[in-house]
Amino acid sequence: MDDKKKYRAILLAVLGVVGLVLVFVLRPERGKWWRHSGVVWATEYHIQYFADRDYSDSILEVFRRVEMSVSAFAPESTVSKINDNRSDSVDAVMAYMIERSHELSRITAGAFDPTVRPLVNAWGFGDDDMALPDTAQVDSLRRLVGIDKVKVVDGRIQKQNAGTQLDFSAIAKGFGCDEIVRMLQRNGVKDCLVEVGGEIAMSGHNSEEKLWRISIDTPAYSADSACRSSIMAFSMTDCGVATSGNYRNYHTAADGTHYGHIIDPVTGFPRQTDVLSATVCAPNCTTADALATAFMVLGLERSQAVVDAYPDVKAVFITADKSGGFKTVFSKNWPADKK
Ligand code: AMP
Ligand code: MG
Repeated sequence: MDDKKKYRAILLAVLGVVGLVLVFVLRPERGKWWRHSGVVWATEYHIQYFADRDYSDSILEVFRRVEMSVSAFAPESTVSKINDNRSDSVDAVMAYMIERSHELSRITAGAFDPTVRPLVNAWGFGDDDMALPDTAQVDSLRRLVGIDKVKVVDGRIQKQNAGTQLDFSAIAKGFGCDEIVRMLQRNGVKDCLVEVGGEIAMSGHNSEEKLWRISIDTPAYSADSACRSSIMAFSMTDCGVATSGNYRNYHTAADGTHYGHIIDPVTGFPRQTDVLSATVCAPNCTTADALATAFMVLGLERSQAVVDAYPDVKAVFITADKSGGFKTVFSKNWPADKK
């Protein structure tokens, strides 16, 4: 081969290699943004993720698995059977829920407690219609309440009192969000946001390659989602965010008093503190969901003390100001650039 031909061959080979490298480096990521929404557990869900295929079947399967374990609204779920003493067998989801509930009840001084169910029912927020139980009724039901009266041994639940019942509504949506994010991540998804009834778990970035933008609703006594307005918004990722408030689920008594759906497990009464809504950001949405509910019971000062003790938890509280407006109160560790 003469020199000219040799150089041409080398040049072509080099160009080929450079071309191949460029194709691989600049190759657009395979996949697209998938968006699903629908209704689950009497609330709406909205899910978006970047992937090379549709995971809606797997998402519905996660919803079904969580529902058949911990939904008290499904008559044949594990929790329904345990509540009716038809079974003592605990599945993996419920064993995890009970384990987390012990921990979350401890760190919130008993303000979060899934054994509150008999009281939730008595106040008309479970299976029964609106009711205003008297102090004697509340006191007798209070004896059934306390997660320390429940333990799991070798996959079987042991209740100190057969009347003790579990209600995981304050944590199940958050757990469902976490489970969907975990399922997507196991399948290689990096960017996703999963929202179920306002509770959110997220990872990576949005379709504009920015952090996920989360907005907090203005507390307003209306169950109508069309009446929603945002009081503030912030950007986050790789965490769970949950909000609790008494303003969407409450009863109004004949004298006009509002009774919210969050019950203080210690007193047995619906609890209305200075906090109108609590939004919690935590490493996962299960924790955020439980803490947001507990913070409605604990009120501002005691909730702030809980947040201060856990550096990876942040919170925003909406309280009423003196002139009838709203005040936004941040936990001390809330990032200054997100206010
Ligand atoms: P959330 O919307 O996450 O704040 O959950 C509220 C629901 O959790 C209520 O509708 C009840 O079913 C249940 N619940 C009420 N009070 C408590 C409590 N103190 N601890 C745990 N669950 C509660
Ligand atoms: Mg909650």
